[in-house]
Amino acid sequence: MWDEKILSAEEAVASKFREIDRRESMWTGKILKSFQTREISYRHFSGTTGYGNGDIGRDALDGVYADVFGTESALVRPQIASGTAALALALFGLTRPGDEILSATGRPYDTLEEVIGWGETPAPGSLLENGRSYREVPLLDGGKIDIDAVDAAIGPNTRLVIAQRSRGYDWRPSIMPEAFGPLADMIHTRHPGTRLMVDNCYGEFVADVEPSMMGADLCVGSLIKNPGGGLAPTGGYMVGTRDAVERCAFRLTAPGIGAEVGSYAGGYQAFFQGLFMAPHTVAQAVKTAILAARIFEDLHLQSSPASTDPRSDIIQAIRLETPERLIRFCQGIQMASPIDSMALPEPWDMPGYTDQVIMAAGTFVAGASIELSCDGPMRAPYTAYLQGSLTYEHGKLALKRALEHMEQGGAI
Ligand SMILES: *Cc1c(COP(=O)(O)O)cnc(C)c1O
Repeated sequence: MWDEKILSAEEAVASKFREIDRRESMWTGKILKSFQTREISYRHFSGTTGYGNGDIGRDALDGVYADVFGTESALVRPQIASGTAALALALFGLTRPGDEILSATGRPYDTLEEVIGWGETPAPGSLLENGRSYREVPLLDGGKIDIDAVDAAIGPNTRLVIAQRSRGYDWRPSIMPEAFGPLADMIHTRHPGTRLMVDNCYGEFVADVEPSMMGADLCVGSLIKNPGGGLAPTGGYMVGTRDAVERCAFRLTAPGIGAEVGSYAGGYQAFFQGLFMAPHTVAQAVKTAILAARIFEDLHLQSSPASTDPRSDIIQAIRLETPERLIRFCQGIQMASPIDSMALPEPWDMPGYTDQVIMAAGTFVAGASIELSCDGPMRAPYTAYLQGSLTYEHGKLALKRALEHMEQGGAI
């Protein structure tokens, strides 16, 4: 029975899938062109040791990222431990004590709480402890950036405006890359000396352009999400103006040294190949998300974005409405994972969260959310956040398994 329902959902979204195929082809062409122009070759895959002076693989990888994201410069490093680490590097790199950071998209992603330090018990070394101040401008109803309010909120000490492309784990639309254009223009014409940094996590290659092409001074993300293509084993990146990237590179290694040192004995093949695969992997993940949205719409459960909505990230939120459905859905996704399929997730008290959380992930690269994973807080309306999938076929099988497990538990 689920096979038929899945097939009919798949047929209903066929035109969306064709749009995704076209986009995958466009990004693949762009990446291929950069590899060819830069004559990427086996010698760029070799690992280096020690200082890594003259590490041609590292430098070429930076060059390819700059080409693909349309920027002057890039810093792509396995040493940047995660998306949060990349964001922290950028926030510290682009501000000095006395400067203010202003969020144009309301409250940022959870992990930035300790980095910025607004919580009750901020970790030592936060931005606030280091003399930066922080304010935020909420999004308008409907999730658009309130450009006039951001303009009005920028003060004499506001050196950095930050914005988050992805919905994160909120019931709000992700922001289309084009929407960063007017924000960047406003900042650069009315407030020269203030930069725009975009948290690009989960967004890469989902739309036709990137925020880095729309005037953002710096875009930041994780290599175990979209641009690593499921192959990069770890790392973070930033792309942007020469000056902004250099400041972050000075922060990563040392002032005056920047991107000129840094070795990686493991070599760079997985990073090049991962980027080459990324438009395809992202397409697989987005197709899985759209299929999930449509299946649950057919079951009269609300999804965000809806199956027909434009998308700017890989996250699919689904309002499951009951705790049993959320638990069984996540358990079903776990049961269908290639790794740790025998683990049965249960809701637990995760540090830093008020409600219990349930999480499902059985990934090759530990914690990689470009691979199929799912989680949700145990509170009404019991929203599941589903993201990733290395292959659409796996995404489809996992959805079927989750539906069966929900049905066996009497949840649907
Ligand atoms: C994942 C994510 C981060 C943090 O990245 P980690 O790699 O988990 O540290 C930050 N912002 C957004 C929007 C993300 O999706």
